Amino acid sequence: MTYPGGVVALDDVSLRIGRGELLAIVGPSGSGKSTLLNIMGTLDRPTTGTVLVDDQDVAALSDARLSRLRGRRLGFVFQRFHLTDGLTAAENVAVGLLYAGVPRRRRHAMALSAIARVGLSHRAGHRPHQLSGGERQRVAIARALANDPALVLADEPTGALDTRNGRAVLALLRRLHAEGTTIAVITHDREIAASMPRCVEIRDGRLVSDTAA
Ligand code: ADP
Repeated sequence: MTYPGGVVALDDVSLRIGRGELLAIVGPSGSGKSTLLNIMGTLDRPTTGTVLVDDQDVAALSDARLSRLRGRRLGFVFQRFHLTDGLTAAENVAVGLLYAGVPRRRRHAMALSAIARVGLSHRAGHRPHQLSGGERQRVAIARALANDPALVLADEPTGALDTRNGRAVLALLRRLHAEGTTIAVITHDREIAASMPRCVEIRDGRLVSDTAA
């Protein structure tokens, strides 16, 4: 991936994520993690190379079909949660399902079921400002997995949390993985990365190690 101006942010990167994996993509700041996340998440198109989601080459898709695929097959978790303040936890999850094209009559039940999976049923009617940081991130994780995506991309999911809440979020990701969800965690934290079943290291835009290789 070359940015305008000639910065080569990713070079000769080949990564295959199998169904049901939990892996970390680790590297220092500027190593190309966000670029890789954006490409894997179909938010950016690579200058060269191929991206397959569910064996489908995303380059062949129009922007409209690409955003539909993104809504249906990919889930995103961000460092700072990105929840809407005026909506309850359940409504935040339901809005994600709206973008995924789920009919209105099914959204509420699916949202509650996702909230239950992250252990927050008792907080479903709370708004983000009534929740702790760790709880907010769990709502964001519920939103990411509500539609049973092929892959959840979590970008520094513990970066805005204290140690205890960070641990709880990682434990949740591990449990979801054990239940079958495919999750890639992007992090600069080597300790977090080392605790994952698979760890892929990126440096200066290149994959330099992969514990699954
Ligand atoms: P990380 O997420 O690991 O910090 P990035 O993917 O953000 O790394 O950046 C990788 C490299 O690409 C860096 O050298 C960065 O300066 C450069 N870069 C990132 N985004 C852009 C952009 N939009 N335009 C030009 N260069 C960029």
